[in-house]
Amino acid sequence: MFPIHTLNSNITNILQKILSANILGNIQNGLQPEIKFIDECSHISNVAEIKGNSHNAQVYLSSAYCQFLWLLDDIALKLIDFSIIQDECIKNNIEVVTYKKSTEYLIQNPEILNVLANRYGIDFNQYFEYLRRTVQLLERDEFERNIKKEWALAESLINSSRTICINDFNEIDFNGLYEQLVNSVYCFGVSFILLHELTHFAMGHLEKEEEMQDEENADFSAFWNLYNDLKDRELFSANIGILCALFSLLMLNPNMEEDEIHPKESDRIFYIFDQISEDNPKYSVLIIKLFAMWAEKFNIQEFPDINGYASESLKLIRDFMNNYKF
Ligand SMILES: [Zn+2]
Repeated sequence: MFPIHTLNSNITNILQKILSANILGNIQNGLQPEIKFIDECSHISNVAEIKGNSHNAQVYLSSAYCQFLWLLDDIALKLIDFSIIQDECIKNNIEVVTYKKSTEYLIQNPEILNVLANRYGIDFNQYFEYLRRTVQLLERDEFERNIKKEWALAESLINSSRTICINDFNEIDFNGLYEQLVNSVYCFGVSFILLHELTHFAMGHLEKEEEMQDEENADFSAFWNLYNDLKDRELFSANIGILCALFSLLMLNPNMEEDEIHPKESDRIFYIFDQISEDNPKYSVLIIKLFAMWAEKFNIQEFPDINGYASESLKLIRDFMNNYKF
């Protein structure tokens, strides 16, 4: 089995909090309480799906996809944090090595960090945690080696001509400081996907021909379930998890080939982003960096320059994605 299953109980814990999804009521109406995992130790065949009818149905979820999503979350969040630090260093005209040294100094001297936190009105604990988590990203060579290794693992899950080496997956550290944050983002992402499938059951979509509107409704309903029932840092992690999960679909279908049932991947990302963009400017940074990552990874031609203001970059990306044709 893929090691990602160690996080299954965390996902169950999240779903128990999402009362607005009425999971128990749906189980009483015939939704199977267990998830059927497919693609164990194999390539991704289908991300997730609900099979059955409105009296008896079960959610199928790809283990290989779950493992892929965790790796993608890990790669994306680390690359984004690294590039934000790098941008700040360039802006302030200091070397990353110097920044790393001062970060280490602050970690060892938390009383100084406390003075700074008070002066700038920042939450000390959150900032201390952030510094401890990100300082390990600043060992450049090691960082790049790890990211490369994770990409190779993630790609082996997509490409059916590649061998899946389960021992390599077993070496993944799920307990590091940074990885614990990734675990949380990942679990919210999978919760979103499961709630999406649940909506197909709850809204009676299984009784009729599939339509694109059903897919939009399922995304919306899953999003609002999480949005209504979570708050503060959990809500923040959930929003990041949802955006990354939708982004993973773009990475699985980078040319956005249409299946006539699902909306375009970029539309699905922007539908959700537009609900939360005002809540926190970090969502804009995330979206911009994620699309840039897609463009770089798949060598997308004429992707816009995103080095200006966030609002301007977002507009350019939106226009580009709307007109993007493979
Ligand atoms: Zn669906």
